[in-house]
Amino acid sequence: MSDLIEKAAKIIVKSKNLIALTGAGISAESGIPTFRGEEGLWSKYKPEELATPEAFMRNPRIVWEWYAWRIDMVLSAKPNPAHRALAELEDMGILKITITQNVDNLHERAGTKKLIKLHGDILTARCVSCGYKQHLSAPPKDLPPKCPSCGDILRPDVVWFGEPLPAKAIEEAFESARRADVILVVGTSGVVYPAGLIPHVVKNYGGKVIEVNVSESAITEITDIFLRGHAGKILPVLVLKIKELA
Ligand code: NAD
Ligand code: ZN
Repeated sequence: MSDLIEKAAKIIVKSKNLIALTGAGISAESGIPTFRGEEGLWSKYKPEELATPEAFMRNPRIVWEWYAWRIDMVLSAKPNPAHRALAELEDMGILKITITQNVDNLHERAGTKKLIKLHGDILTARCVSCGYKQHLSAPPKDLPPKCPSCGDILRPDVVWFGEPLPAKAIEEAFESARRADVILVVGTSGVVYPAGLIPHVVKNYGGKVIEVNVSESAITEITDIFLRGHAGKILPVLVLKIKELA
C-alpha cells in the first residue's frame, strides 16, 4: 500500500490541475451513514419512499422527519482527517477544485473553499412555490415547515432522485473535469448520475484517475491507482507523502 500511495503522490505532485470528487464515504468516519454499503442508511429506509419529489408530495411530514434526523446528525458531526487533508491540499495550491455529492457541510467546515456542491445542501430549506430559501441551524420544529413569504411548504434544498442537478454546478463540474489532468475520487459508489460520469470525462480527456475507497466501485475499472482503505487513514498519509516530494 505505501508503494501505491507513493506512486499516487508522485502523480499528484507532477499534476497541474488536480480536482477531487467526493461522495458519502468521505463523511462515513464522521459518523454520517452512507446510502450504499453495509451500514447504508437505506438498508433501514427505502430511498424511493423518502428521496423523491413524489414521496414528498404524498407525505411531506415523513420525508421531513427523515431529514430532521439527518440534519441533527450533520450538525453534531465534525470534519474528519480526510476532509482536512483535502482542504490542506487546496491550501498548498495543488488541489484546484473539490466537487462533492454530499449534502453535509463538512468540506466547508474543514476549510475547503473552491467547492462545487452537486446535490444541494441539507442545511437549506426552499419553498416549493416561490423559491424562498432559509438556512437551517437546527431541524425545523413544525413539520413540514411553512414558507414565511407565501405560506406554502418548504422542502430540503437537495437534489432528489429523478430531479435535475443545479445547472451552474453541473456546468462548472464538467468544465473542470475537461481541464483536469488528475482526479482524486474519494468514497463514492459512482452509480449516481451524472456525478458518476465525472471521472470518465477526466479519463477520456487524457487525465489520470486515483481512487480511495474501502471497496471497489463503479469507477474502479478506469482508475490508474486504486487505494483501498478508509479515506480518513489514506488521505492524510497521501498528503504527507506529497509534502515530502513537493
Ligand atoms: P454511496 O452511499 O452510494 O457510496 C458510498 C461509497 O463510499 C461506497 O463506495 C463505499 O464503499 C465508500 N466508503 C464507505 N466508507 C468509506 C470510507 N471510510 N472511506 C472511503 N470510502 C468509503 O454514496 P455516493 O456515491 O456519494 O452517492 C449517494 C448519494 O448519497 C449522493 O447523491 C449524496 O448526495 C447522498 N448522500 C450524502 C451523504 C452526505 O452528505 N454525507 C450521506 C449519504 C448519502
Ligand atoms: Zn414561498
